[in-house]
Amino acid sequence: MNYKKLIVDSGLRMLRGGYTVETWGNISARDPETNLVYLTPSGMDYTTIQEEDIVVLDLQGNRVEGHRKPSIELDLHLHVYRSRPEVQAVVHTHPIYSTVFSCCGEDIPMVIDEAAQVLGDVCRTAKYGLPGSQELAENCVEALGKTANACLLQSHGAVCVGQTMDEAFKVCKVLEVTAQIYQMIRAMGRDYKKISDEHIAAMRYFAKNVYGQK
Ligand code: 13P
Ligand code: ZN
Repeated sequence: MNYKKLIVDSGLRMLRGGYTVETWGNISARDPETNLVYLTPSGMDYTTIQEEDIVVLDLQGNRVEGHRKPSIELDLHLHVYRSRPEVQAVVHTHPIYSTVFSCCGEDIPMVIDEAAQVLGDVCRTAKYGLPGSQELAENCVEALGKTANACLLQSHGAVCVGQTMDEAFKVCKVLEVTAQIYQMIRAMGRDYKKISDEHIAAMRYFAKNVYGQK
């Protein structure tokens, strides 16, 4: 697998998918064979990033390859990989609807079936931390817990994870659609009908083991 190409392509995917603006957001992938992490450079236009701009680090943050300044959220990415061994891709986005709830310090519940199938848990808002701080990294890992595939960073954006980059992007999409629908429910002055824990468990099993061309 060409991880540098994966990161370059994923930057464009995030930008063109409307999950961030300008140079914000950042993306990484871990090679499970070497435990090396491939990360976007800081503050660069996603349409100009080349494979040689990708920074390669070990899990302790030592640079192994690349000459660019790494994303300021380096600690956040590494902390997620250290606390969640199954995670191999981390996408930090600045999406509009999800961020509305993060600004209010609210969690996004699993109001639709896709959320129940993909998000792994309620999407919690992490306590505030300055961008790029160790505090933000720790608050993010706390909000993700052991099963959630997405969390919000207060007044900032979202962090979505997956066992593959495609999975992480699916989480980005489902989170933002869920946030959009939840925002509309709230704008109507209504509350949502909770999907039962039993139904959530059944859908999670179905999504993992049955749905699609298995
Ligand atoms: P970087 O450009 O350094 O990755 O920072 C963007 C960002 O979103 C910080 O939270
Ligand atoms: Zn950010």
